[in-house]
Amino acid sequence: MSYLEIDELTVELDGIRVLDRVSLALEKGEVAAIVGPNGAGKTTLLKAVLGLVPVVSGTVSVAGRKVEPHHRGALPIGYVPQRMEFDRGFPITVAEFAGLRLSAAGPTAFLQHRGGHLAQRLLGRLSGGELQRALIAFALLGNPEILFLDEPLAGLDISGEETLYQLVDELRRTSPPLTVLMVSHDLQVVYRRASRVFCLNRSIVCSGSPTEVLTDENLRRAYGAMVGFYEHDHPHSEEAVDG
Ligand code: ATP
Repeated sequence: MSYLEIDELTVELDGIRVLDRVSLALEKGEVAAIVGPNGAGKTTLLKAVLGLVPVVSGTVSVAGRKVEPHHRGALPIGYVPQRMEFDRGFPITVAEFAGLRLSAAGPTAFLQHRGGHLAQRLLGRLSGGELQRALIAFALLGNPEILFLDEPLAGLDISGEETLYQLVDELRRTSPPLTVLMVSHDLQVVYRRASRVFCLNRSIVCSGSPTEVLTDENLRRAYGAMVGFYEHDHPHSEEAVDG
């Protein structure tokens, strides 16, 4: 039994099958990545697990317990969406926005130490990268056991990127350890940071360790085009994290 199990999940949106019997499993404390072309269903998969889109069939289980779709909103999953739509003129500070979610949980280390300098700024006035940092901090409020990151590096500068992954590494060593599922188009990041990779293109095309999965042949199968991954381009590729 794995910690998070997604079994045969099928989703149709506007009558189109976007996910077709997708199954994947994550162990506690593991950092896994989903890769795949635009429109492959990566965001939809995260949303289906979170109960944000209706599913046709399939199950989601956490720690051996099946979670019905209408209960998925209560899962201990922090979610950093690919983008957040809101009225930028709305006069609310980062701290006030965080307060909406804090309840009894209290701010996490990220908000205190890594996002603290943003606390008194107006949310609508943050730059793209600052907003991304704030969203990561919000996702960690309440100390979730699972973190879903949808394109987490979009807009982050190098220091933001390092901060995010240092934080993820720290949180994986806490008890209980954080389990991370990220969507990323950056295959170098996937290679360095994930212990397991799932290639998605409506269904799971391949899965395994980054070295097994990120081969030219698999990527061509997943992306359906001449896409290659050149491991030797990256000096730090040996830093891949163990699950
Ligand atoms: P990208 O890499 O471009 O972010 P993705 O793999 O995350 O893509 P999704 O956003 O999950 O892909 O979208 C999968 C498919 O479902 C796309 O064809 C998209 O147009 C469609 N889709 C997504 N949301 C909806 C919706 N609310 N209604 C109808 N179709 C949708």
